[in-house]
Amino acid sequence: MTSVNKETPLVEVRNLKQYFPVRTGFIKTVPLKAVDDVSFSIMEGETLGLVGESGCGKTTVGRTLLQLYKPTGGQVLYRGEEITPGDSLNRFRKKAQIVFQDPYSSLNPRMTVGDIIAEPLDVHKLYKTKKEREERIQSLMELVGLSSEQSTRYAHEFSGGQRQRIGIARALASKPEFIVCDEPVSALDVSIQAQVINMLEDLQKRLGLTYLFIAHDLSVVKHISNRIAVMYLGHLIELASSVELHRDPLHPYTQSLLSAVPIPDPEKARKANRIVLGGEVPSPLNVPSGCPFRTRCKLAQDICKNQRPELKEWKPGHFVACHLA
Ligand code: SF4
Repeated sequence: MTSVNKETPLVEVRNLKQYFPVRTGFIKTVPLKAVDDVSFSIMEGETLGLVGESGCGKTTVGRTLLQLYKPTGGQVLYRGEEITPGDSLNRFRKKAQIVFQDPYSSLNPRMTVGDIIAEPLDVHKLYKTKKEREERIQSLMELVGLSSEQSTRYAHEFSGGQRQRIGIARALASKPEFIVCDEPVSALDVSIQAQVINMLEDLQKRLGLTYLFIAHDLSVVKHISNRIAVMYLGHLIELASSVELHRDPLHPYTQSLLSAVPIPDPEKARKANRIVLGGEVPSPLNVPSGCPFRTRCKLAQDICKNQRPELKEWKPGHFVACHLA
């Protein structure tokens, strides 16, 4: 983790909404509210972890933030400037990149690794000569721990961990400041996961990068994140520093997620109180009234049915959306 001290956030998301129309009849559609009124900011050099079960909207937040999907509502600001179609979006596209979850499907099997890595260089015309392009490919491969002699090979000739390194080299090609790491290790063997996370941390320090690190597993984001945001059914329900969130989770959903994190010490694991949630996550097509978590919350009361709890700062820097926090 790197220290954070500048005042204007590098990235700010205000009331972001992403609704997808889902057809329910011949002409009738209903909105699937994948992301609903989500706000957060990320300071330069910081890593914000974004966690939640699959389908909670965290990947959609990352892609909408990067404008890969046009937001249904809300704003994205970069260095205090709102991203709008045109010049600001073009500048943002150079500065903000993504590392995808699946290194098996995100790399074109018909392109050489060198051409894959050079894609952003080609798109943004970031070289003057072929030689310059070649040198940049080589230095990017070395930066992620790959031999530059492998640039003429194809992605299928590499292991999963090596493919993710190729994806990271591609993300770094345009010299970005901000990277959305969308579950970058969840498709990899456990033994490889730590290597890739360590490499991302090392690159962050060397290149001064800022990350939004998306994961479904709190134990993956714990060490790399300065702060962690928890999502449930398209809503942000808790946000705090990584240390504070692990020490004193205030939302019942975060408490259940933390109780599911494996504890290596068998003695402590035996004494730990695992909180098992009842029921299934409701469909995002039919989000419960009031608190989206109320159908699975043992503490739910009448107010939870009638009023949506806002994300409020209950302790300095610790935000929670729960009437009883
Ligand atoms: Fe549970 Fe109510 Fe808090 Fe929602 S607002 S988490 S239902 S206690």
